[in-house]
Amino acid sequence: MNPSIELIRNRLTDAVQKIGRSIQIMEVCGTHTVALFRHGIRSLLPEGVRLLSGPGCPVCVTDQGTIDTLLELAKRPDTLITTYGDMIRVPGSRTSLEKLHRPNVRVVLSTDDALDAARKNPDKLVVFAAVGFETTAPATAVVLQQALAEGIRNFTILCAHKLVIPAMKALLEGRNDKIDAFLCPGHVSVIIGSDAYRPIAEMYHRPCVVAGFEPMQMLEGIARICEQISSGRACVESVYQAAVRPAGNEIALKLLEEFFEPWDGPWRGLGRIPGGTLRLKKQYEQFDAAKRLDITPLDSPEPAGCLCGRVLCGLVEPPSCPLFAKTCNPDHPVGPCMVSTEGACSAWYKYRGR
Ligand code: SF4
Repeated sequence: MNPSIELIRNRLTDAVQKIGRSIQIMEVCGTHTVALFRHGIRSLLPEGVRLLSGPGCPVCVTDQGTIDTLLELAKRPDTLITTYGDMIRVPGSRTSLEKLHRPNVRVVLSTDDALDAARKNPDKLVVFAAVGFETTAPATAVVLQQALAEGIRNFTILCAHKLVIPAMKALLEGRNDKIDAFLCPGHVSVIIGSDAYRPIAEMYHRPCVVAGFEPMQMLEGIARICEQISSGRACVESVYQAAVRPAGNEIALKLLEEFFEPWDGPWRGLGRIPGGTLRLKKQYEQFDAAKRLDITPLDSPEPAGCLCGRVLCGLVEPPSCPLFAKTCNPDHPVGPCMVSTEGACSAWYKYRGR
């Protein structure tokens, strides 16, 4: 074994012995979930350290109502739905965008492509499914700025962007207060900065360590968390300083502030979280698909039997779902956690929990 990995493992084992009880660390980010599996990090951890996958996969946390609303919009001949790829496979209450087989549903690789669809289809109202966290929201703000500059009037968004810190607070305030610490998401932290986690460390006394996606960084992050717990500390640390600054990306944050405001929007599995979702500010309502099309976003229940909500809160592991690897598998997903490549169920299925 690589000597530096061995060194980190020794520190980890020492810390866990000092702690003297089992601990639960939540990796908030879906990219971490997959990377931890792919690099076999879970199998390197000493007994007593349990990793929980959190609500950090953009597709997984998009509520069923947003999916159903997109499905309703896709039936209108005068609209063109643009969305990132994973979203089209997520089942709504009755079907998915993929299974609808509508010519007016288009997968895009970027928000630029979505805006381009508006330029090229002036007879349609283009709706972009704006999902994801602080990582993707700035790209949405950039195209809104561009649409304004070009005077493009047929571009709108169905805004379902989420904010990570309110979700972490919501977890600790009732959904799952058994979480001992957080391995904080690398990509989101590039935007919001490591200082953003201070309230979690200071108010809730939970260690927060920001890590990138290299195996050594993730292992080091977990070791730092265990060392904090073993010495009774709870603070914010970063082992991803090459990309994450304490104050984050101020330009991106300003853009978010210009176009959006926090509101108590719905999350899959976590319900409505105070200030946990972004919506367009009133002065930019012309970009709001719901307002332009006069629709009230639907409030739909989760698929019968699906435990995605409990998986996203770290309350159960995917194999505890009675549908896991039976009626729910990557070819026939029942819930979004099996659809998205970053979803916990998909990662467990692919790596068999190792
Ligand atoms: S296995 Fe399928 S149905 Fe069960 S929680 Fe995961 S995605 Fe939902």
